Amino acid sequence: MLIHRQSLEKLSLRLSEYIPSQRLLKDEPMSRHTTFRIGGPADLVLLPASSDEIVRAMDDCAELGIPVFVMGNGSNLLVRDGGIRGLVIIIGEAMSRIKTTGAVMSVQAGAALTRLSREAQAHGLDGLAFASGIPGTVGGAVAMNAGAYGGQISDVLQRALVITDRTVRWFDASQLNLGYRSSLILSQGMTVVEAEFALKPGDPAQILSQMNDLAVRRREKQPLSLPSAGSTFKRPEGYFAGALIEGAGLKGCRVGGAEVSQLHAGFIVNRGGATARDVLSLIEHIRQTVYQKDGVLLEPELRILGED
Ligand SMILES: Cc1cc2nc3c(=O)[nH]c(=O)nc-3n(C[C@H](O)[C@H](O)[C@H](O)COP(=O)(O)OP(=O)(O)OC[C@H]3O[C@@H](n4cnc5c(N)ncnc54)[C@H](O)[C@@H]3O)c2cc1C
Repeated sequence: MLIHRQSLEKLSLRLSEYIPSQRLLKDEPMSRHTTFRIGGPADLVLLPASSDEIVRAMDDCAELGIPVFVMGNGSNLLVRDGGIRGLVIIIGEAMSRIKTTGAVMSVQAGAALTRLSREAQAHGLDGLAFASGIPGTVGGAVAMNAGAYGGQISDVLQRALVITDRTVRWFDASQLNLGYRSSLILSQGMTVVEAEFALKPGDPAQILSQMNDLAVRRREKQPLSLPSAGSTFKRPEGYFAGALIEGAGLKGCRVGGAEVSQLHAGFIVNRGGATARDVLSLIEHIRQTVYQKDGVLLEPELRILGED
């Protein structure tokens, strides 16, 4: 999409009327905001502190014809090397309040899922142990219906406060079409600003031991010391993507700085200096090789965006 430099300047001026300069970044490398450590510059990045700021910024963008992309911790993203035109809203630290009332936890979208999981354990609340090693924000986890080791967000989400058509309103979890790594939020481009989780009273020691057990399993099986975006592909019906990729002899296969992890073939890791182009070529090579061998077409789980 072609955006006039003038419109961006106008947007930047308008945003600076209500956003302090340390929360408004220009030509910001997205490699700083993705766990893959890959991605060219975004024209403008806003780190919002409230839903009001997000709605106002979206109104300004709509008026000026500037596209907006909302993200969290960038742990499921591949941003292309040319970066992102328009405004990127990163919901993080400045919107991360957690409030616990009985067995219900109300959480702003920017809170880290790992922190939420730890706080639930500390309050003796069961249901979020599965999430303790997922490196995303609550907003990203709701949008992706993140899950692991038999649990997923839809098991515990009660409702979410969402921006849709630039208005803020609550949606019950049942209205959000939460499926396998899919949701109404993703398909409709909605923005999660807060989420409410209904948990069950549990024994803190038992929950902690479950979390520790899952952490050990992750450390043994996943390449956590190298930058990645987690599982590259969705789990195909009746198969495991990692097993198919390993079975096709692709463990360790490399394009530039991108490599199929030696530890877990379901992950692509950045061995240093990988570009988005490297990762995309490797993804295509994996898809073709697995399709030719097993007739299964792997579908990326990570979200790919930006310009070449
Ligand atoms: C080492 C590693 C291990 C992982 N393990 C798992 C796992 O076990 N299970 C699992 O499910 N995932 C896993 N992931 C992937 C990732 O952590 C999850 O998908 C996570 O939920 C993404 O959250 P995020 O905040 O990083 O979202 P981002 O990567 O920033 O964004 C992902 C998508 O969510 C959307 N989004 C983000 N925030 C919002 C918001 N507030 N409102 C609306 N949309 C939003 C974005 O537009 C984008 O489409 C792993 C990743 C890594 C790097």
